[in-house]
Amino acid sequence: MRRCWLIEGSIVVALLAAAAVAWGGVGAGRDPGVDRIIAAARTEAHGAEYARYLAGEIGPRLTGSAKLARAEKWARDRLNSLGLDVRLESWGKFDPAKELGRNTLQGTRGPRTVHNVVAELRGAEKPEEFVIVGAHLDSWDFAHGATDNAAGCGAVMEAARILVASGVKPKRSIRFVLWTGEEQGLLGSKAFATAHAGEMAKTSAVFVMDAGTNPIAGLTATHAMRADLERVFAPVAMLDAEHPFALTFADGLALPADCCTKPAQPSMATCTGGTAACSALSAAGSCPSDHTPFLQAGVPAFLFEQRGRADYARTHHTALDTVDALVPSAVEHSALVMALAAYGVAELPGLLAREKLVAPGNAGAGPLMAPQACTPGCEQH
Ligand SMILES: [Zn+2]
Repeated sequence: MRRCWLIEGSIVVALLAAAAVAWGGVGAGRDPGVDRIIAAARTEAHGAEYARYLAGEIGPRLTGSAKLARAEKWARDRLNSLGLDVRLESWGKFDPAKELGRNTLQGTRGPRTVHNVVAELRGAEKPEEFVIVGAHLDSWDFAHGATDNAAGCGAVMEAARILVASGVKPKRSIRFVLWTGEEQGLLGSKAFATAHAGEMAKTSAVFVMDAGTNPIAGLTATHAMRADLERVFAPVAMLDAEHPFALTFADGLALPADCCTKPAQPSMATCTGGTAACSALSAAGSCPSDHTPFLQAGVPAFLFEQRGRADYARTHHTALDTVDALVPSAVEHSALVMALAAYGVAELPGLLAREKLVAPGNAGAGPLMAPQACTPGCEQH
């Protein structure tokens, strides 16, 4: 996913800063909600705590396992304690012993009903229009599933906390979704997009975090979205110099080829190298992440780009994906970026542009790599 259309970050940040000044700049006519959101993130920070609980206390969360069921209920209760409306939306039963040959570690006798965790901050003016931020709650069972993807879940939950604590009343509804069955072929997000098909036309954007514990550092969008997204992310680009953020614009987003029909079944329980061999094992039949079903439904959907010192290729789908791999400060930063992204899109005058959403003739071309073209530099999630 790292290839293609990367523009020199400093140029993009400079452009975003210019846009921010044009929009009003810090404290100079900027939406006061943005400053309240930033203040709420600076006052308290719980994203790393959430991620640590999922990875360290609950542990591996294989789809269909008792531990994933425990994680679903824990996340529901935590989000509910923030004052949000939270639902566990079941998408079916899954038996890891039967489907994956996993049968001993986590109480995996099934089948067990699996759920997406869906929390909602209802919109004040257009409650039937939505912005979604999400990450997947399930993991493989080699280790704790810390970078894949307790980090993303912690950031999503903290983004929810930040927005509630800030007291903002966004125009559109913001949904915080923890999907399940991602590792088996985006089962939960595909089911969500199907179950909520009637809402897809009114879903402005979907933002997914699923590239490890490094801080969110950018995303790729279409030219038609440029004005809106520069406005939304101007405050992000100005947060701090340690965390640059780059928007990249392309002729269309990448919609991977039919890559979601077979579950990924890595078999490297002892693979600790994070090498090309590990990546190759996990690549066959898998999709980039949970934004894909929304793109297929015509919704602007993004997988955040993340950059930093953590080596995702080393921990991803390996026995090294343990709780100590988390970078707490990065999780907190990503949570704030998510909160600002969700709020900014929820406040736009209209829905995000959908024209030319997918690149012409696209079957894996573009910023997201198709599985068959995967190389060590292009991670599957
Ligand atoms: Zn993942």
